[in-house]
Amino acid sequence: MNILIINAGSSSLKYQLMNPETGEVSAKGLCERIGIDGRLNHKVGDNKVVKDIPMPTHSEAIAATLEILQDAEHGVIKSVAEIDAVGHRVLHGGMEFFDSCIIDDEVIAAIEKCIPLGPLHNPANLMGIRACQAVMPKTPQVAVFDTAFHMTMPPKAYRYAIPTEYYENDSIRRYGFHGTSHKYVAKRTAELVGKKEFKMVNCHLGNGSSMSAVKDGKCQDTTMGLTPLAGVPMGTRSGDIDAAVVQFICNKYGMSVDECLNMLNKKSGMLALSGVSSDFRDLEDGAKNGNEACALARDKFCYEVAKYVGAYAAALNGIDVLTFTAGVGENDCNVRAAVCEYLGFMGVKIDPELNSKRGKEMVISTPDSKVQVWVVPTNEELMIAQDTAELVNAAK
Ligand code: ADP
Repeated sequence: MNILIINAGSSSLKYQLMNPETGEVSAKGLCERIGIDGRLNHKVGDNKVVKDIPMPTHSEAIAATLEILQDAEHGVIKSVAEIDAVGHRVLHGGMEFFDSCIIDDEVIAAIEKCIPLGPLHNPANLMGIRACQAVMPKTPQVAVFDTAFHMTMPPKAYRYAIPTEYYENDSIRRYGFHGTSHKYVAKRTAELVGKKEFKMVNCHLGNGSSMSAVKDGKCQDTTMGLTPLAGVPMGTRSGDIDAAVVQFICNKYGMSVDECLNMLNKKSGMLALSGVSSDFRDLEDGAKNGNEACALARDKFCYEVAKYVGAYAAALNGIDVLTFTAGVGENDCNVRAAVCEYLGFMGVKIDPELNSKRGKEMVISTPDSKVQVWVVPTNEELMIAQDTAELVNAAK
């Protein structure tokens, strides 16, 4: 089976052609500068090709993608009929979507309804969907939502303690993001530990970071909120702050709320605390060379991650497994060690030798640790491909 995975942004479109059974990627690429001029970056194995192709809209980007996938020199399929289905990454499913689903007119209308919750991403995701429908009308399309995995949270986790009208009229509540990654890691961890019923906390630590509390494969709580700004501090996002900070800064510096939110999303987090970079590798180098601000940024990050693990251990009445994933979680052994150090009180013990490795599936806890600690590299694309294949096969 061949699943085409599409992640459409406002001026870009990423694609991968994947076998959902093996996870093998036969080709992948990026259409960029859509609406400006248009450039296609295509990769098959180690062979890369870059082509300037006019892309006034996402339709031309999809057309160029399908063309290069069938190209005699750079292609991997002979006809579009070899693509069994398309899986689209969609940012915000609001209260409309609890799972991935096959796209029809009703689904499109519901994704449109969620635009106020994802004003930048959902319109772009819809452009990708419509462009695919236009050029490959016979191929089933599936929407996979970044929020869906978290929809099993109970009201005490997802309701904000603000007047009910904002929830009832405007759907303002905690949604959470990175759901496809959390779902993949939860599913994969169940396979790795050989159990379906267990309690875990997953730490997706990357440039954007979020954590989830998962019981028996179902999300019970997560750190991001109505938007991805909430939770632990991130590369350039502040994470949780007192909302009154916005009022203070806007009043004092004559900033608009939008400008202030832009600052909190793009100029805060590790970048702001370190004054150097949002990249954890740069922070580590800085800290090693005696830069105290870099050391503080890393400390603050590990402290906040550990705090949430503690909170979620309380929420779940104890945990069996702690998992680390994404760029920092998979690779930065010092972040993992520092987080686990804070968690010694709950019997978390890691083996420094095991933890010194990176980027692969592995247990890093000692045999006598009360909590198993794992590194589980995420694979959002595989999760999208598997969801898509499952839905399309079930509909046959
Ligand atoms: P996103 O998908 O949110 O853009 P990633 O999950 O790719 O982010 O994570 C990016 C982060 O991972 C960067 O801050 C980078 O420093 C960190 N990272 C990647 N490789 C390593 C490494 N070898 N050691 C430490 N940090 C790393």
